[in-house]
Amino acid sequence: MAKKKKSLTGLGTRYGIKPRKQYTKIHFTLKQKRTCPECGAKRLGREVIGIWACAKCGYKVAGTAYNVSL
Ligand SMILES: [Zn+2]
Repeated sequence: MAKKKKSLTGLGTRYGIKPRKQYTKIHFTLKQKRTCPECGAKRLGREVIGIWACAKCGYKVAGTAYNVSL
């Protein structure tokens, strides 16, 4: 049995290596800590696809599905 690489998350052993690497990259982009431009808290997260919201002050900003452009 080969050891699992910790950097690959989410999809298990399905789909082969290439989509899993792409998924991992997107997963980390998505989960990355972001600073809210309004209150400065690192609580900015994706609310729905394309909308990013701050969990602290409720500030909302439009972004892409997997990243936010500030
Ligand atoms: Zn905020």
